[in-house]
Amino acid sequence: MMQLGESWCCCFGAFSKRNGPHPREELGGFSPEKNIKLFSYDEVKSATDNFHPGNKIGQGGFGKVYKGTLRSGEEVAVKVLSAESRQGVKEFLTEIDVITNVRHPNLVELVGCCVQANSRILVYEYLENSSINHALLGHKSDPSKLNWSIRSAICVGTAKGLAFLHEELEPPIVHRDIKASNILIDRNYVPKIGDFGLAKLFPDNITHISTRVAGTTGYLAPEYALHGQLTKKADIYSFGVLVLEIISGESSSKALYSEGNFLLDRAWQLYQEGRLQELVDPVLKEYSEEQVLRYTKVALFCTQAAAGRRPSMLQVVEMLSNPIRINENELTPPGYTDGSSSTRRIPKGRNSSNSPPDTSLSNPITITEMIPR
Ligand code: ATP
Repeated sequence: MMQLGESWCCCFGAFSKRNGPHPREELGGFSPEKNIKLFSYDEVKSATDNFHPGNKIGQGGFGKVYKGTLRSGEEVAVKVLSAESRQGVKEFLTEIDVITNVRHPNLVELVGCCVQANSRILVYEYLENSSINHALLGHKSDPSKLNWSIRSAICVGTAKGLAFLHEELEPPIVHRDIKASNILIDRNYVPKIGDFGLAKLFPDNITHISTRVAGTTGYLAPEYALHGQLTKKADIYSFGVLVLEIISGESSSKALYSEGNFLLDRAWQLYQEGRLQELVDPVLKEYSEEQVLRYTKVALFCTQAAAGRRPSMLQVVEMLSNPIRINENELTPPGYTDGSSSTRRIPKGRNSSNSPPDTSLSNPITITEMIPR
């Protein structure tokens, strides 16, 4: 393994100290003064026991994920990017350089990468408790292991990680794909946001980027799903859906296809009927009702149809962390897309007539990914 900036040698296959300084063109023109750990293909292969199927821990939209053990004994998650996701070496390393320097206790750490020949492999720290998807929503999950104190800490930690991406980086990063399978949990149940493959640098002077929709249905803010308008507010919407999943133990994607049981729709209905506590996962036996209700209302604030009405992630952290009274008069109905068509539905609500027109919803573009991965 080598560290660019410390040493140019070793794992770039053709290069070694014996061959002289690392030719810049072999890095696609990428300046090797960066702090990126590069692994050779052989190192990654040996860490994963030749990508043994028994070590496969997941399959995402970008490729397969394996558990691996480095020679040092460090456990890692190895993400082998699929052919379609290959970029030029320079672009790839530039992206990696950005990701490597984004560090926060609630973000999955990128240990390094491999760019030998056609391979594009990302090496991440390994999180023992897998993702929220596996731990809470999957077939094999045991939701009772995740009591309310763990679940609330997961909500707050995830909010802090996202607030860091949005508010403390310059330029900020919009994640684009906040969802249960991208929130990983370490051995102490500390949540870490993973998968920055979709995250793009987001210049502050651009209020939205119209681009290919890259998120996952069920979590997609209407303005992003239907019009490709990507802002921090789209992440905040997805975060709101995630919080509802954590509270209810129900997957928003699954519910999308079952008649009239869309999680967000149900949450809003229960809210209107003053029965929000019915949303709480029945396996949760002990919890603070005040806290659960506050978290649910924060989630509803995050998923409001009008992007401009959603709070910032800093405000979300504040609202989740402190027992403050939430001004519900300001809460307007959620907006969402249904899975089968590109229609945007806003449920009827007590404040729906007061909702300001969402002026961001003009210039429709094609939805390219409406099927959950
Ligand atoms: P998408 O690529 O569409 O975001 P995804 O989130 O399911 O889908 P990946 O991020 O590639 O795909 O991850 C697939 C699975 O691999 C995760 O759900 C998780 O179970 C596992 N995984 C990924 N990264 C790690 C990690 N660092 N530690 C432990 N398990 C991981």
